[in-house]
Amino acid sequence: MLKIENLQVHYGGIQALRGISLEVPDGRIVTLIGANGAGKSTTLRTITGLVKASGGSVQWDGQELLGKSIDKIISTGIAMSPEGRRVFPDMTVLENLKIGAYLRRDKAEIEKDIQWVYSLFPRLEERSWQLAGTLSGGEQQMLAVGRALMSRPKLMMLDEPSLGLAPLVVQDIFSIIREINRQGVTVLLVEQNANMALKIADLAYVLETGTITMSGTGSELLADSRVKEAYLGKS
Ligand code: ATP
Repeated sequence: MLKIENLQVHYGGIQALRGISLEVPDGRIVTLIGANGAGKSTTLRTITGLVKASGGSVQWDGQELLGKSIDKIISTGIAMSPEGRRVFPDMTVLENLKIGAYLRRDKAEIEKDIQWVYSLFPRLEERSWQLAGTLSGGEQQMLAVGRALMSRPKLMMLDEPSLGLAPLVVQDIFSIIREINRQGVTVLLVEQNANMALKIADLAYVLETGTITMSGTGSELLADSRVKEAYLGKS
């Protein structure tokens, strides 16, 4: 399980996380929702070691992650599919997937995992020789998720996987997230699309300007009048 306690992050004089605490139990889907600038990406980036914390702790299976290098953190079984997809545009789909396995040496297992990713995303298999930069937005998102899976994570963190995608593609992505979870991967999902995220989440947290203001099961928050008003619009 991932356990974050009193996590604080500053960017210069700005405090982006004001002492947040949250838990991601093994085998679950947990979502973190919140408006632009609330600190969602900062939370994920701090867990993976891309951003330095100024206080608090991030424990993963009882081990402290703060202060560890990114490679060390990935090798403990945590992967992230970043916001904005960030695939390598001049490399093929297959090359992008192989990069996701860069810390691994088990060639035969890597080959198996490429087939695993292709079974989750048949579209990527059809396009394995296509340059990633020429994929559609939805396909690039699939590739970003697939690439993160290539480190064979126990915990998969996804930063706004639905951003900029058409509703049908968003549904595909969310059903694949569910499938990945069914196959035993714990999921921490950051989303502005609160409606979809809360529907698939076992547990959910609301982040507002660097503070967790609400938490509960996905269905509790879906039914909460404050969440409805602030995050669900008319949907
Ligand atoms: P969004 O949904 O818009 O991506 P978010 O909830 O993920 O928002 P963050 O990207 O974590 O929010 O940003 C939280 C706050 O920290 C914002 O005020 C942002 O401007 C600030 N911030 C983020 N990254 C940096 C940085 N590298 N330097 C300075 N300030 C930053």
